[in-house]
Amino acid sequence: MAATPTLTSTDKKIIPGGSFLISDPTPQNCFFPEDFSEEQRQIAQTTADFATNEIVPVSDQIEAKDFSVIRRLIKEASDLGLTSVDIPEEYGGLEMDKVTSAIIADNIAKQGSFSVIFSAHVGIGTLPIVWYGTAEQKKKYLPKLAGGEFIGAYALSESTSGSDAVSARTRAVLSEDKQTYTLNGEKMWITNAGLADLFTVFAQCAIPDGPKAGEEKLTAFLIERGTPGLTIGKEEHKLGIRGSSTCPLSLADCRIPAANLLGEVGKGTHIAFNILNVGRYKLGVAAVGAARMALGNGIRYAKERKAFGKSISEFGLIEEKLADCAVGVFVGEALSYRTVGMIDAALASVDKHDTAAIQRAIEDYAVECSIVKVWDSEMLDRVVDEVMQIYGGYGYVEEYPAERAYRDSRINRIFEGTNEINRLIITGWLIKSAVSGKLPLLPAIKQLMDEVMAGPTPKEDREGPLAAEFSLLASAKKLTLFAAGAATRRYADKIADEQEVMGAIADMVMEVYAMESAILRAEKISTAGTGTGKGSVGIAVAMARVFVAGAMEKIELAARKVIAAVAEGDMARTQFTILRRLAKHDPADTVALRREIARHMVRAGRYTL
Ligand SMILES: Cc1cc2nc3c(=O)[nH]c(=O)nc-3n(C[C@H](O)[C@H](O)[C@H](O)COP(=O)(O)OP(=O)(O)OC[C@H]3O[C@@H](n4cnc5c(N)ncnc54)[C@H](O)[C@@H]3O)c2cc1C
Repeated sequence: MAATPTLTSTDKKIIPGGSFLISDPTPQNCFFPEDFSEEQRQIAQTTADFATNEIVPVSDQIEAKDFSVIRRLIKEASDLGLTSVDIPEEYGGLEMDKVTSAIIADNIAKQGSFSVIFSAHVGIGTLPIVWYGTAEQKKKYLPKLAGGEFIGAYALSESTSGSDAVSARTRAVLSEDKQTYTLNGEKMWITNAGLADLFTVFAQCAIPDGPKAGEEKLTAFLIERGTPGLTIGKEEHKLGIRGSSTCPLSLADCRIPAANLLGEVGKGTHIAFNILNVGRYKLGVAAVGAARMALGNGIRYAKERKAFGKSISEFGLIEEKLADCAVGVFVGEALSYRTVGMIDAALASVDKHDTAAIQRAIEDYAVECSIVKVWDSEMLDRVVDEVMQIYGGYGYVEEYPAERAYRDSRINRIFEGTNEINRLIITGWLIKSAVSGKLPLLPAIKQLMDEVMAGPTPKEDREGPLAAEFSLLASAKKLTLFAAGAATRRYADKIADEQEVMGAIADMVMEVYAMESAILRAEKISTAGTGTGKGSVGIAVAMARVFVAGAMEKIELAARKVIAAVAEGDMARTQFTILRRLAKHDPADTVALRREIARHMVRAGRYTL
C-alpha cells in the first residue's frame, strides 16, 4: 500500500488550512477556550462586565437608535481598549492576537444591535485601513477609530449586487490632473451609515497603466462623512438588530482627494474578500456569544416557570432543548476558537509589518473561516428558536428577551457572505486546493477507494470515554472523502454547476470539523482532569458524545444525497453498500446524556462546563 498521504499537525507547528479532512490532530495541536491565557481571561471578563453592566441596561435606547448612547458606549469601549486590539501600537492601538479580538466579539454579543455596530466598526470599518492604508491614512484615521472618536463603515453592496459584489456599478474617475477621484453610484445596506464618520467605499475604476490599462476594476476609497456629494439615505426598517443603523448611500459627483485611494487601483476585490475572512470568524464567535446569552436566559426561565406543579426545566422535552442548546454553544466555542488559534499560530511566524503576508496567512484558513460563519450562525438560529419555545407564549412578546434574540439572530445567515455563498466557498476551495496539489486530498481519496474496494477494515482499537466517537470521526472523514470523490469523478471540472452536491459536501465537511473540534476539546478537558468547573469533564464528554451522534446522522444523510445524485444502477448499489459499511455504528444513549447535560446547566443556572 502507498504511504499514507496525510498531513499531521505534529509535522509542522502551523496546521495547514483545510487539512483536517486528511489529518488526525491531537488535542494538544488545537486551541480551545480552556487554553486562554490569564490576560485573555481578564479581557473576556472585562468585556462581559462591560456588556452586562453598560450595554444591556440601555438596550431600549440602543433599539430606538439613540446614536448619542451608542457613541457613548463605543467611546467607553475604546477607553477599555476594546476597539483597538487589531490596530498597530504606533497608531494608538493595542495590536493583540486574533484570539483576544475574537474573545471581545464573543463577550460583547450580549446585545445584538450593539454587537453588529461594534463589529462593523472594529472589523470591516477599520481593518481595511490597518491592512491597506498608507502611513498618512493610518496616521490620520486609526487613532480616531481606535479612540472611538470616529466610527467606521464599509460600503460594498449595492441594490443590484450583494453576493455578486464584484459587479458593483458605482464608478470612480480620476481627474486629468490626477488630484481627485469623482465617484457616482449608490450603495445599499451599509451598517453604521447613520452615524459613521468614515466609509470604505468600493467602486469600479480604470486601471491607469500596464497590460490591463483602461479596464475598470473594483477599487477601494476612503470617504469622510460630510464630503459634498455623499448623501446618507433613510434608515431601513429591519426584522432584527433594529438598533443598528442600516442605510443606503448615494454618491453624486462625490469628489475626494486622490490620496483617499485605499490600496491600489483594481485591488478592491482583494481588499473586500480578505477583510471578509476576518469578518466571518468574528461573526461566528459573536453568534456563539449571542447563543450563550440566549441559553442563559432560557435556563433561568425554565427553572422559574412552573407548569403541572413543577418547574418546566424538569420536563424531558425541555431538558432536551436545553441540552441541545448547550451542546451547540460548546461545539461553537470549540470550532471557533480552534480556528482563530490556528490563525494566531500561523501569524506568529509572520512579520507584523508585512500585511500581505498576514493576509495570505489568514486566507489559508478561508475554509475554516467560512465553516465558523455558517455553522455558528445556524447554531444560533436553532438556539434562539428553542429558547423562544421554552418561554412559551412569553417568548412571543417584546417584554421578554427571547423575542428580540430570535429576530436579531436571523441576519447572521445573510451578511458577511450568505450561507449559500459560504457553502460554495468551502467545497470550491477544497476542490481547488486538491486539484492544485496544495492539499493532498486526491491521493487521500484514491487511498480510501482502494481501501473500501478491498473490503471491510478493522476499526481502530482505542480506549477512553470518547473511543467510540473517535472511531465515528474516522468514519465521518471517510464518508466525506468518499462522497466528494464520487462527485468529483462524476462531474470533474463541471462540479461548480452542481450546487446541491457542492452544498451537501460542504455540510459534511462542516460537520466533520465540528465533530473533531468537539471531541478534541472534550478529550483535552478530560486529559487535563479539569475544566472550568466541577463536573466539567463528564459534561464535556457528554456534550461531545451527543453532538457526534447527531452529526454522524447528518453526514450519512448528506452522503446518501450525493451518491444518489451522482451514481446509477449497479454503481449506485455498490456505493450505497460501501456507504452503509462506513456509516455502521451502535448509537449512543443520547436521551440519558442530554438529561445529564441539562440537569448540570439547570443546577448551575447558566451555561457552564
Ligand atoms: C442588516 C444588513 C446589514 C448589512 N451591512 C452591510 C455593510 O455594512 N456593508 C455592505 O457592503 N453590505 C452590507 N449588507 C449587505 C449584505 O452583505 C448582502 O445583503 C448580502 O451579501 C446578500 O446580498 P443580496 O442581499 O444582494 O442578496 P443576493 O446576492 O441577491 O442573494 C439572494 C439569495 O440568492 C442566493 N445566491 C446569490 N448568489 C448565489 C449563487 N451564486 N449561488 C447560490 N445562491 C446564490 C443568496 O445566498 C441569497 O439566498 C448588509 C445587509 C443587511 C441586511
